[in-house]
Order: sequence, then C-alpha cells, then structure tokens
Amino acid sequence: MQITEIYKSLQGESTHAGLPCVFVRLTGCNLRCLWCDSEYTFQGGRKMSSEQVWDEVKRLSPTGGLVEITGGEPMLQERELVPLMLQLLEAGYRVLLETSGERPLERVPPAVIKIVDVKCPDSGEANTFHLENLDTLNGDDELKFVLSSRADYEFARDFTRQHHLAERVNAVLFSPAFRKDATGARDSSHCLLDPQELAEWMLADDVPARLGLQLHKFIWDPALKGV
Ligand code: SF4
Repeated sequence: MQITEIYKSLQGESTHAGLPCVFVRLTGCNLRCLWCDSEYTFQGGRKMSSEQVWDEVKRLSPTGGLVEITGGEPMLQERELVPLMLQLLEAGYRVLLETSGERPLERVPPAVIKIVDVKCPDSGEANTFHLENLDTLNGDDELKFVLSSRADYEFARDFTRQHHLAERVNAVLFSPAFRKDATGARDSSHCLLDPQELAEWMLADDVPARLGLQLHKFIWDPALKGV
C-alpha cells in the first residue's frame, strides 16, 4: 500500500470527535477539491505492506480503540485495504473510513463505519458522489458536507431532505470549510463560511443535521500536519 503517514491524535470530526485515534493516511486522490488541506497526500508516500501498517497501528494503540483510514482517497487502494480493515475489525479495533463516495463502497465490510464526504458545488468536485453508495450506508455511518457558501448549504440541505439522510445514517454533518493556507490563530476566522451564519441557516430551516467543526484546527496550529 502507498502510505503518506500513520500517527496517533485526537479524532477531529464526526460524532467520534475528541476520542484518541490512530490515523492511517493513504496516498493519492482522484479529486481536487479547491479547499483541500491534504494536498500533500496526492503524491509520494512510502510503500508499506499490510503487515507493516498493521504493526504500526498495534505499536501506536496496542489495546484496540479507534483507527481511521483516510487519505487522499483510500478506496483507490481497495484491493489491499479491505483485507486490512477486516484484520483490524477482527482484532477488536473500531474502524472509520473517510471517503468521498466517488468509488463504489459495496465491498467495504459492514462493520466499518463509513464517513462519506459528499462534495458540494463550490468544492469544484460537484456530482462526484455516486448515488448507489447511499444503499451501502447503515445506521452507524455518517454523511458529511463541507460547506464554503450559501449555495453549498442549500445543496446540502436539499440533498439531505431529498434522500432522507437523517433516517439512513447515524449523523448528517454540516461543516464549514477551512482556508487551506490557514496558519496561526486557532479560531473560526479561517472558516470559509462563518459557523455562526451556518448555525442561523440551519436553525431557520430546521435541517436534520448537526453542525461540525474540525476540532483539531482549534487545538493545534491549523497548518500543522500529523495531528
Ligand atoms: S477528496 Fe479529500 S483528499 Fe481528495 S482533494 Fe478532496 S479534500 Fe482533498
């Protein structure tokens, strides 16, 4: 597998935010979201066997716990990734998979918690989510919309209602996009969409979604990698 980094930190997003988590970040992505803060994953990385990845996860978190598989787009390496996820599940880890839903998700083991990032219009990657993937979701999974404008918000609101997302998954997350060159201040001034404005829109429309902030950007310098 081509791996950019493996590290332990606190989970920054989703309903698991705040929990200790080992992150396995795979190299490569087939999308180019305008606000992407993971461009360093597009190339490079190092080749590791599944056994080496497994050993590193065990070293960082020997007694189980949360492991997030992320990228880049991890499902581009599905052939090696699926057996690794099964191995982690069998050993008692809770496995999260962060994916855009552009690749088919039907071969993801059902016990893996999928966090699917449906791209909104102003990401520059609209319409990349495959609707068939909605049928692979279960009550533990989560859907996320990263928003940078009112148009994004309206897309997420309408998509949530149209596809009855709140009834399909554990959580629907609306999260303001962060400026990708953000550095220094650990506050919401780097958000491309003001969280207060987003909160007001969500309340006005009574959207069945929860507002999410990227916790790690408020704990560490937003430019820091590996946290
Ligand atoms: S899918 Fe994720 S890693 Fe790929 S470009 Fe978009 S934000 Fe970046």
